[in-house]
Amino acid sequence: MGSQKRSKNSQERKNFIMKNESFACNYCGKENDPLKGGCRNHCKYCLYSKHVDDKIPGDRESKCGQLMQPLELDNSGSKGYVIVHKCTKCGKEIRNKTAPDDSIEAIIALSKHKEL
Ligand SMILES: [Zn+2]
Ligand SMILES: [Zn+2]
Repeated sequence: MGSQKRSKNSQERKNFIMKNESFACNYCGKENDPLKGGCRNHCKYCLYSKHVDDKIPGDRESKCGQLMQPLELDNSGSKGYVIVHKCTKCGKEIRNKTAPDDSIEAIIALSKHKEL
């Protein structure tokens, strides 16, 4: 019997983490494929998101885990449009870039919502 003790010298990275995996939407139940060349962080059909990130996008540190409702569409200049998501439980707001294959009908509905 022998036990080896090794000191791990790994540094934790705390910068932007890209998570790109398929998931079933908690709101509409539809399956979302991973986004090519990007990071899928909201449902492309109904635009709902899930509160999984705490301080930085992709950290998955939040223990909230509740649905995030798409509040409004915001134009961020040359980078295109961002969706402002608000958590239905804790009220945290997170801005997410729209994906190229987001439902155009949902995007239009959201943009009209802002004008009202
Ligand atoms: Zn959905
Ligand atoms: Zn929350």
